[in-house]
Amino acid sequence: MSRTHNAPELPPEIARRRTFAIISHPDAGKTTLTEKLLLHGGAINMAGQVRAKGEARRTRSDFMKMEQERGISVSASAMSFEFADYWLNLVDTPGHADFSEDTYRTLTAVDAAVMVIDGAKGVESQTRKLFEVCRLRDMPILTFCNKMDRESRDPFEIIDEIQESLALDVAPVSWPIGMGRDFLGAYDLVNDRLELMDRAERNVKGRSIAIAGLDDPKLAEHLPADRLEELRAEVEMARGLLPTFDRQAFLDGTLTPIWFGSAINSFGVKELLTGLGAYAPAPQPRATETRQITADEPKVAGFVFKVQANMDPKHRDRVAFVRLCSGHFKRGAKLKHVRSGKQMAISNPVLFLANDREIADDAWAGDIIGVPNHGQLRIGDALTEGEDLRFTGIPSFAPELLQSVRAGDPLKAKHLDKALTQFAEEGAAKLFKPEIGAGWIVGVVGPLQFDVLGSRIEIEYGLPVRFEPTQYASARWLRGAAADVDAFIKANRGQMARDHDGDPVFLTRIQWDIDRAEKDFPNVELAATKQMM
Ligand code: GDP
Repeated sequence: MSRTHNAPELPPEIARRRTFAIISHPDAGKTTLTEKLLLHGGAINMAGQVRAKGEARRTRSDFMKMEQERGISVSASAMSFEFADYWLNLVDTPGHADFSEDTYRTLTAVDAAVMVIDGAKGVESQTRKLFEVCRLRDMPILTFCNKMDRESRDPFEIIDEIQESLALDVAPVSWPIGMGRDFLGAYDLVNDRLELMDRAERNVKGRSIAIAGLDDPKLAEHLPADRLEELRAEVEMARGLLPTFDRQAFLDGTLTPIWFGSAINSFGVKELLTGLGAYAPAPQPRATETRQITADEPKVAGFVFKVQANMDPKHRDRVAFVRLCSGHFKRGAKLKHVRSGKQMAISNPVLFLANDREIADDAWAGDIIGVPNHGQLRIGDALTEGEDLRFTGIPSFAPELLQSVRAGDPLKAKHLDKALTQFAEEGAAKLFKPEIGAGWIVGVVGPLQFDVLGSRIEIEYGLPVRFEPTQYASARWLRGAAADVDAFIKANRGQMARDHDGDPVFLTRIQWDIDRAEKDFPNVELAATKQMM
């Protein structure tokens, strides 16, 4: 999909919105950068609040504690803040690979991503995986090379690595001056400014000095002679060898601008925010089965990309995270829940402002609102002002690990059904009921999901459970004419199950199962993904 420049005809409130996520490998500095983005956005007064709040939240339930112990961030949240004339929506993504499906869905809700890399480590495995997900959607990416205040790699080497390993053009928009202990700041290649880092004050924005190009004698007042000489030589080389920033290539997802900074010192953060405002796209269209929904349409339409259980384990309420794709939403509005056909009054939607959750009185296309509900809203569901829209592109992936699950207390087996159904609807796991025999099979993408699931069932339902290995390695959904699919099911009954929507699934042990089935039933497609609609 080729992206348009921010269309001038968008209502101003929508045109100023930027909805983005941060992708990175654990430890690269995502949390720190998030804090500083919020700090610069003027949304919170004290850095550290994100972490502190996160921890306060986590202690509320033990499964969150487990997540903390393991140093992973499992659940996504959304935050909004303002910077200059822009309204920014930051959607958090889980950093751990085991939750990649969550991340995939979260990325369907944003229009751009900030890729944070550690200047010493370059492109790491999780960055690469998340980047591949962004690439599937041709997502514009802004790159922040972090921790330049530590011994880092040479900037040319970092840029080369990104270009080679991600097959992505990299255009430097800032150039670092020194590194490690000698890191002084950066030269802003777009605006010809010198940005100097202040090490003494980690939360101040540093000094910014306008310069009339690299020959400006003013530079010598701020930089030692050897640094200045080095900067001039490097910038000349960078300008000669590397691509210059091209907005269309960026919007198409083939070129990324890179900033060099130090999140912990708040350095480079303001420039990144300025870049998000100036370069990242305004709310983009979303595809449905029937047509594209554009942000300027007056009627409200949105889709659920994530469902989160209430943080309080005593309440089974959930919050559905809805990406608004069009229109101007006002609190109390009645929207059609397309899957059930029922009207829902959205009376207490939550807007996740940086400092706290707040009741949203209104929201615009591009925003993320939280809709508290008792389980009606599922991933992929559409909310509209009446039109029967079905959003596409929110897949469910075939699981890579399948285990059977048993209640530790057989008298509570009923609760197990309920718990599993809830988690399947939340998208936390896939649930399969074999055609033959009793019990459930649970499918996940990463092993950590079993641990989280196990402790959540225990905490939220008071039910200890046991997971046991099965002979299955994956699952495939069936596509084809009803008669062909029925014949397939009959012939493979021993390996057939139903997912939590009641759709037939073929449980597979080895690749040979799939090869054989494809040979025997050429008219049935064995799909590794399913649209969550
Ligand atoms: P996350 O796992 O990506 O969220 O990373 P964090 O934000 O938790 O950062 C990981 C570690 O790197 C923490 O100890 C941070 O204090 C540290 N860190 C983050 N940004 C910087 C930076 O710019 N410079 C230095 N020296 N350390 C940083």
